[in-house]
Amino acid sequence: MNKLARKPSWLRAEMLGASNTANLTKMLSKFKLHTVCESARCPNRGECFEKGSAVFLIMGNECTRNCKFCAIPTTTHALPLDPDEPRRVAEMSHKLGLKHVIVTSVTRDDLEDGGAAHFQQTIKEIRALLGDKVFIEVLTPDFKGNENAIDTVIKEKPTIFNHNLETIKRLYSTIRPQADYERSLSLLERVKQQDPKIITKTGIMVGLGESHDEVLQVMEDARKVGTDMLTIGQYLQATTKNFPVQEYIHPKIFKDYKTKGMKMGFLYIESAPLVRSSYYSQDLATILQNK
Ligand code: SF4
Repeated sequence: MNKLARKPSWLRAEMLGASNTANLTKMLSKFKLHTVCESARCPNRGECFEKGSAVFLIMGNECTRNCKFCAIPTTTHALPLDPDEPRRVAEMSHKLGLKHVIVTSVTRDDLEDGGAAHFQQTIKEIRALLGDKVFIEVLTPDFKGNENAIDTVIKEKPTIFNHNLETIKRLYSTIRPQADYERSLSLLERVKQQDPKIITKTGIMVGLGESHDEVLQVMEDARKVGTDMLTIGQYLQATTKNFPVQEYIHPKIFKDYKTKGMKMGFLYIESAPLVRSSYYSQDLATILQNK
């Protein structure tokens, strides 16, 4: 039996809040909306749904790319965008009384602007309905490095602009072949250059075969382009089609990454086995107060 078949104790997530999860799932289908929580089979969705928070997945739930770690299905014939989706995201966020709305998407390389205008409209609709005090976090694709597209989202001044580096440069060709490490760094850099008030954030998974030093290198590269926040979590194989886990990283190592990262000047780091891109162990208002 593959020695990695058995997950270590620290990776057993308790599925919390069955009742709230059911309510949220029902509401999502009523609003005809998707979450990356469900599509990517996030281990924390029970906990987050219980807290009434979810990460909206816009522009469909099939992607034009095929990253080897991702559970979201790939398509060569993506459906046209639903122009009413931004309004529904705002409506549901309002219904849930969200103070912090997180919006992500699949990658739509089939669209001229990669879907930047759809992100823009979603931010506008959320602000219009929930007011200026709401925290809006976008977790975007790389828009193939299209600066006009990136600027379209920047202009809407999201509170947090998140774009995941996902893994170390050496593994890109294996793990996310349609992405480009330098292109992703340039996106994070451009956000900071265009609007320094926007908090930038990135996330990586470990356990894909990277070394400790390679992880520190990604963290330094992210800091070099002004990235404020970082998430580090254990890679988990969502389906048999996905890349096999190479190593289960001990919680001590995650703590060490956090300690070293805070010394590099990150504003905030979530680093633990079950951490995912939009996971917060404390609410954003508190984090920003301590800024
Ligand atoms: S681009 Fe994003 S949604 Fe698409 S396959 Fe890669 S990780 Fe999944």
